[in-house]
Amino acid sequence: MKKLNNNNLKLAIQKKGRLTEETLEFLRKSGLEFESYKQRLFSSCRNFALEILYVRDDDIPDYVASGTVDLGIVGQNILNEKRPRVKKLLNLRYGFCSLIVASPKESNIRSIEDLRNKTIATSYPESTKKFFKEKNIPVEIVNIRGSVEITPALGVANAIVDLTSSGSTLALNDLKLLENIYESEAVLIANAQTLVNGKKLLLENLMTRFKGVLSAKEYKYVMMNAPKDILPQLENAVPGLKSPTISQLIQPGWISLQTVIKEDVFWETIERLKRIGATGIIVLPIEKMII
Ligand code: ATP
Ligand code: MG
Repeated sequence: MKKLNNNNLKLAIQKKGRLTEETLEFLRKSGLEFESYKQRLFSSCRNFALEILYVRDDDIPDYVASGTVDLGIVGQNILNEKRPRVKKLLNLRYGFCSLIVASPKESNIRSIEDLRNKTIATSYPESTKKFFKEKNIPVEIVNIRGSVEITPALGVANAIVDLTSSGSTLALNDLKLLENIYESEAVLIANAQTLVNGKKLLLENLMTRFKGVLSAKEYKYVMMNAPKDILPQLENAVPGLKSPTISQLIQPGWISLQTVIKEDVFWETIERLKRIGATGIIVLPIEKMII
């Protein structure tokens, strides 16, 4: 059997579940090459000193905390719930979901205040306890492993605390949203020792790749044409635009301008540019952005 190389960085990811596909995609976008067919316990990267281990997501924080692996990718929700002794390095911008309180549509529970001394089913007992304690609402918590959303119909609980991303599971089970406890996304976590030991440099190189993919997601590359004399207005219109690349067009008095625009202000910036007089605007996705 092929063995793990202990000099390499070890990263644990979810073997099979909601985070698996996007995690593999993120690693591949970071330029890591590896096989990942099913039934594998681990993969060695061909072009980086990294071993990828496939495990249950619940086990990842403990593996990282104990140093069995150097790195892990889990939902922020698991960190909030288990508070493991690990360092969080990056938010990965996928696996978005929220931990919410919900009650049956038909019930007379309309706000979390109505849950005083009522029973709540959840797989997140610690997060639930903390939330209701901070609100000064005493509740009884029933710890359920799976299919929490059916517990009110079974008469096991008056309300639930569960993860949801689109709310469709709630609607399907005739539940209504009462409150958001917290938002979550996939995060990269590390063992504290790995940040200072012999693998420190390797980790820095891996982080450069990861950050390159994440920054690229936040920006778009934009090219446009404009009359030369509106350049100052164009520069004002793009937030954070310092020195755009400018080239002369053959048509006298016209320039071509290239810059990057942040995703969250993208459309409003494009509209502003058009109003000022930019034309022939071309937008390209950025694959990686190393800063
Ligand atoms: P495992 O078999 O690895 O223990 P699991 O059943 O505990 O898997 P999944 O349901 O696959 O876990 O969810 C993994 C993570 O995906 C969650 O911890 C959460 O961070 C994220 N996630 C994103 N959207 C949702 C959602 N709608 N419901 C639950 N989790 C979600
Ligand atoms: Mg799990």
